[in-house]
Amino acid sequence: MNSIEKLKKGFADFKNSYYGGDFKKSAEYAKLITEGQQPKTLMIACSDSRVSPEITFNSNPGDIFMVRNIANIVPPYDNDGHKHGTSAAIEFAVNYLGVENIIVKGHANCGGIAALMKDVSTGDFISPWVSVSARAKEEVLKNSEFSTDEERRTACEKASILVSLENLLTFPFVRKKYVRGEIKILGWYFDMPKGLLLEYNNETGRFQ
Ligand SMILES: [Zn+2]
Repeated sequence: MNSIEKLKKGFADFKNSYYGGDFKKSAEYAKLITEGQQPKTLMIACSDSRVSPEITFNSNPGDIFMVRNIANIVPPYDNDGHKHGTSAAIEFAVNYLGVENIIVKGHANCGGIAALMKDVSTGDFISPWVSVSARAKEEVLKNSEFSTDEERRTACEKASILVSLENLLTFPFVRKKYVRGEIKILGWYFDMPKGLLLEYNNETGRFQ
């Protein structure tokens, strides 16, 4: 089976189960279609094909409002009229869906962060995009605790999540709800080789 046939077969399997074959799934899915979505969580995750949150969190349709981009980056608020896809998704999730949680989920072995750590320019769009997290790279390069490229990339994967958490708070509508305690903001890191999910702890300043 080639890659396109595999996708079509996957859709047929999905349809069999969500449109009748599995009573519980099909009832819940029909309800989502007629009543609309009310996801509680907005997640910003990487486009990497190995870290699909619906699979790694074993979640159902309607659970997660998902944004996936290169290196799970949140850009700062910038009301300049340009085409900000990630910012539009954040606005929709917070102001129209009323999500209760925003999770920035990074991961190990991230190619986007590897591109950021390189000194060479990558493509027309990748370098400018990942440069949103340039501050994370600078912090890591200044820190003598890390001696190998792999250690520095891992540290940057985590530091970049913190830059995105800070950038989330530059969105006035996010900040307002966060200050009122109406929204939780979390930083998660999927250590893919070890199969661990780490959460950033504000008190210790570490992912645990
Ligand atoms: Zn990645």
